[in-house]
Amino acid sequence: MTNRLFDLVRSRQPDLSRPFAEAPDGSVHTYADLERRSAQYANALIALGLAPGDRVALQVEKSLEAIFAYLGTVRAGGVFLPLNPAYTPPEVAYFLGDAEPAVFVCDPASEEALAPVAAAAGVGRVLTLDAQGRGSLADAADAAAPHFDDVARGPDELAALLYTSGTTGRSKGAMLTHDNLASNALALTEAWRFTPDDVLIHALPIFHTHGLFVATNVTLMAGASMIFLPRFDPDLILALMDRASVMMGVPTFYVRLLRSPGLTPAAAVNMRLFISGSAPLLAETHRQWQARTGHAILERYGMTETGMNTSNPYEGARLAGTVGLPLSGVSVRVVDAVNGRELIIGAIGMIEVKGPNVFKGYWRMPEKTAAEFHEGWFVTGDLGRIDAAGYVQIVGRGKDLVITGGYNVYPKEVESEIDALDGVIESAVIGVPHADFGEGVTAVVVARPDAALDEKAVLAALEGRLARFKCPKRVFFVDDLPRNTMGKVQKNLLREQYREIYA
Ligand code: ATP
Ligand code: MG
Repeated sequence: MTNRLFDLVRSRQPDLSRPFAEAPDGSVHTYADLERRSAQYANALIALGLAPGDRVALQVEKSLEAIFAYLGTVRAGGVFLPLNPAYTPPEVAYFLGDAEPAVFVCDPASEEALAPVAAAAGVGRVLTLDAQGRGSLADAADAAAPHFDDVARGPDELAALLYTSGTTGRSKGAMLTHDNLASNALALTEAWRFTPDDVLIHALPIFHTHGLFVATNVTLMAGASMIFLPRFDPDLILALMDRASVMMGVPTFYVRLLRSPGLTPAAAVNMRLFISGSAPLLAETHRQWQARTGHAILERYGMTETGMNTSNPYEGARLAGTVGLPLSGVSVRVVDAVNGRELIIGAIGMIEVKGPNVFKGYWRMPEKTAAEFHEGWFVTGDLGRIDAAGYVQIVGRGKDLVITGGYNVYPKEVESEIDALDGVIESAVIGVPHADFGEGVTAVVVARPDAALDEKAVLAALEGRLARFKCPKRVFFVDDLPRNTMGKVQKNLLREQYREIYA
């Protein structure tokens, strides 16, 4: 037996002297550096007592050293567990208590606050890594040997424990195997035509499937390279496009870049591909991007539990407002959320997926795992439809569906109508408890500062365009919608905020 994921990464490198990543300080790390540095992390982790299957949790700022630590963990037979640096000590306590890692790595500045949290969770080792990639973990790697015989890990053994974003409830640990990660990275490399000549602009966080597994693993599988940025900075990205070929981003990246006058066809002339995911990309953003740069953004759909499921095609139509076709090896179907029967083309229901990308289950939640599988398919929790050409369209999350007076209202449909109104930037439609209707359709709207829009005007404009039961009962204006770091609108916060308006 071999180490499935890292063997594959290694087998895909045509030439170890080629660049893997350019760090924010301009230094370039080759694939030979990656091999050596990940070996040092693997040796350091084994010296710390890591045994196969042990979790290595990192709550650190983005750095290339953290990427090398991820690969070192995989090579050492461990299970990598990245955590959002924004999590507070009580939140970290939940993750450490749940995952029981053998090693926990945090920023040196939080060590004092987090050491007792780790101790309470029974974590044996606490080390540090800062935004520059320095700290006691990096020191341990410095002192370790640069060669490592990878620990054997089969395709079905865990490579990562990745917690969901917690958009709809408490984050759940998704158990991802070597083959989950390997198969998905290969499918994406192929679908998006990555080659060793590609240079990816990497401005995403690395505690989430998008920045860690989609962006980094695809780069690795292609033997390509990335310009590794600490954070999203539109001016810097515009300046870098000349030397890059691909960018992956969440929709807010595109929205913010569109605000920059520097975004022109000339700025993007060397780029071959812009990819979006993690949250819905507005069709309007897609259109504006195409008008400004000549590029059709390629939108794809995935989740922590499955990696990527669908993608718009590289060749062929990239349809705004859709997430494209199932990836190679992945099957997608839509079923009736009530009786579980597969639905006909075009009908809206629960999206279910199947394939080598689908995770092994929720960590220590066997009942939850059983509940989220249906006839061997994973129930995504997302509602959508599949058109005659096979394109998948997501209409929202099951948990965001509004049921008013016994009727189902899909927020996306109402949001699209509101977004099309003059002066509207974006909107979120939620269901709020209502004595007569069960839930009242409620719209929260972001308007342009110069727009002369009020509640009455929005309601009047929707009349005749939407059935009466779909029309909002109230419309509220806000400056911004609440979003998490991945650009996802936090409708749970909105539901909480407007909870009592119909009381
Ligand atoms: P939790 O499961 O803890 O509530 P989450 O579902 O937001 O959090 P993730 O796994 O990060 O956690 O996100 C996956 C979800 O993101 C999908 O189920 C889907 O709702 C949404 N998503 C991802 N890509 C797209 C896309 N292109 N269009 C629309 N929604 C998307
Ligand atoms: Mg989810």
